Amino acid sequence: MNGADPDGDVFRLVYHSETALDGAADAVDREIERILVASRRNNARVGVTGALMFNRGFFAQVLEGERQQIESVFERIQRDPRHTNLVVLQFAPAPERAFAAWSMAFVGGSAADARRFGHMAEASGFRPADFDADGLYQLLRDMLLRDEKSFADRS
Ligand code: FAD
Repeated sequence: MNGADPDGDVFRLVYHSETALDGAADAVDREIERILVASRRNNARVGVTGALMFNRGFFAQVLEGERQQIESVFERIQRDPRHTNLVVLQFAPAPERAFAAWSMAFVGGSAADARRFGHMAEASGFRPADFDADGLYQLLRDMLLRDEKSFADRS
């Protein structure tokens, strides 16, 4: 659903944060799963779409939808003790939704993948703080497209 949005003006919020999740990989995986289940349930209800990336030590998230709905979702996200040091890079009107099919897409895979990405990250020096809003938004889009392509290639 690209182009004109049936819900009216679309806003986009882009932020990154530091994860406060620690412990065994399984426990972290379970916590990420809980976050995704709640996100998908709540976001679908209010027409918010987006993508969440979990990389070693960091979250990055794009939320898109009506301004008031994003504000109310983000109020809860900000209070969540499972992450800290939130940095909002953008909250502005957007020409269209980039993640229209996703109440919350997840890129970065499991905690095991995150360790793998973390390894790559170390090699490439990746840190969300190095990205501006458009760069982070583009990264999440590219990772999702790549994940969708590799899923399509497997099926
Ligand atoms: P439930 O998920 O049923 O949880 C009940 C309460 O317990 C909530 O107050 C919740 O904050 C708290 N809670 C649950 N598990 C834990 C835990 N392990 N540690 C501490 N507190 C806990 N929510 C969305 O709706 N949309 C999003 O897009 C979204 N993105 C998120 C991204 C990140 C990086 C994080 C960390 C959280 C995100 N959340 C998102 C979750 C959000 O912060 C709230 O937890 C959630 O919206 C509450 O949903 P609920 O009222 O259905 O409660």
